[in-house]
Amino acid sequence: MSDIKKVLVVGGGIGGLCAAVALRRCGIAVDLVEIKSEWTVYGVGIIQQSNVVREMARLGVLDRYLDAAYAFEDVGIYDLQGNPLVRIPGQRLAGPQYPANVGISRLALHQVLSETAIEAGTAVRLGTTVDSYRDDATGLSVTFSDGSVGQYDLMVGADGVYSKIRSMLFGETYIPRFTGQAVWRYNFPRHPSIDHLASFTGPGGNAGLVPLADNLMYMFSTSHEPENPRFAHDVLAQTMRDRIGQVGGLVGELREQITDNSLVVYKPMEVVFVNEPWFKGRVLLVGDAAHATTPHLGQGAGMAIEDALVLAEELVGGGSIQECLQRFMTRRFERCKYISENSIMAGEREMARDPDFDRIGLTKAMLKLTAEPI
Ligand SMILES: Cc1cc2nc3c(=O)[nH]c(=O)nc-3n(C[C@H](O)[C@H](O)[C@H](O)COP(=O)(O)OP(=O)(O)OC[C@H]3O[C@@H](n4cnc5c(N)ncnc54)[C@H](O)[C@@H]3O)c2cc1C
Repeated sequence: MSDIKKVLVVGGGIGGLCAAVALRRCGIAVDLVEIKSEWTVYGVGIIQQSNVVREMARLGVLDRYLDAAYAFEDVGIYDLQGNPLVRIPGQRLAGPQYPANVGISRLALHQVLSETAIEAGTAVRLGTTVDSYRDDATGLSVTFSDGSVGQYDLMVGADGVYSKIRSMLFGETYIPRFTGQAVWRYNFPRHPSIDHLASFTGPGGNAGLVPLADNLMYMFSTSHEPENPRFAHDVLAQTMRDRIGQVGGLVGELREQITDNSLVVYKPMEVVFVNEPWFKGRVLLVGDAAHATTPHLGQGAGMAIEDALVLAEELVGGGSIQECLQRFMTRRFERCKYISENSIMAGEREMARDPDFDRIGLTKAMLKLTAEPI
C-alpha cells in the first residue's frame, strides 16, 4: 500500500465519480469538487460497451446500473438505406449471466454514480473549484474558489475537455481542437426493432439508434460543419432534419418527427490528447481532461471509467506515489491513444467521404482491443 490516504477529485462527471467510488472502495478518503452548482447533465444517452459493463461490475455497481439501463447483445451495422451489412455479436465480459452491452440515459447514469459515490463516503462540494495548489515534500495544499484550503496526497483532474487542472499542469500546450464534425442527437420512444445498437453508415453519412429503456431510444447523426457554426435555437430541428436527409431506413422514417428545437442536442466534436505522462508531482489527469476524443467508437466515457479503476488499483499496489502513477500510465497510455487516434481517424474518413473506409473492420478491432484485460 502506498501512502495515499486522502485524494481530491476535481470534476463530478463520469470519470470523476467513478474515480471517487473506486478510491472509496479501497478505503481512501475522497473529497470531490464540481464547478456546477446544479449537478445536472444533458438528457440524451450514451452507449456503454462490454468493457464498460465489466468495469461496472468491478466497481461494484453493476446491478444498480443495469436496473437503470437497457441491456443488449449485438451491434448491427446497416447501410444508409437501412439494409443490414453485419451483426457483431456481443461479448459478455462481466460474466455469462450479464449482458454484453448497455445503452443508458446520461441522467440515469449520473444518478447511479453520484448516489453510489455519496453512499460510499465521498465528500461532495458543488459550485466549487480549485483556485491554486502548492505541491511540496509535505503533500499537496489546495486552495478552493470559496477560500477554503485542504491537504491531500493526490489531486485527480477529472474536469473534462476544457480542464483547468490540465492548464495548471501544462499551461497552453494542450488546447482542444474542433475536428470539423458535429453530432446531432434526439430522443424518441423506442422502436420495437431497436433492441440492439443500430449503426447506419456509408460515404454520405453516419447515424445510429441506441436503446436506452423499454420506452426510450436516441438517434445520433454526425455532420460535416467545417465553419463550426453556432445555430440559433429556433432552427435546430429543421437543421437536424436537413443533415440526415440522405439517411433512409428507420432513421429516414423518424426524420419527420424531429420537430422540437428544445429536444435537439447539438455538439461540435472537440479533441485533445496529452502526449506525455498525465501527471506531475501529486497531480494527475484522467478521462477527457487527458484524452478527449470523438464519439465514433463510443469509448470516451469507457476510457474515463477504466482510468478510474486502474488508478485505484495502482494506488493500493505499493511503492511511492510516482511509481504508482507511472504504473497507471503504463497501463493506460497506449490503450487510450489507440481509441483517441482511431476515433479521430474515423471522423476524418467520414468527412473525406472515403468509400474504402472499413468501419466494420475498425469496430471489430476496437472491440477486440477493449475486451483485453487492462
Ligand atoms: C456527442 C458525444 C457523444 C458521446 N457518446 C459516447 C458514448 O456513446 N460512449 C462513450 O463511452 N463516450 C461517449 N462520449 C464521450 C464521453 O461523453 C466523455 O468521454 C465522458 O463524458 C468523459 O467523462 P469525464 O468525466 O472525463 O468528463 P466530463 O463528462 O466532461 O465531466 C467533467 C466534469 O467536471 C466538471 N468541471 C469542469 N471544470 C471544472 C472545474 N474547473 N472544477 C470542478 N469541476 C469542473 C464538469 O462540470 C463536469 O461535471 C461522447 C461524447 C460526445 C461529445
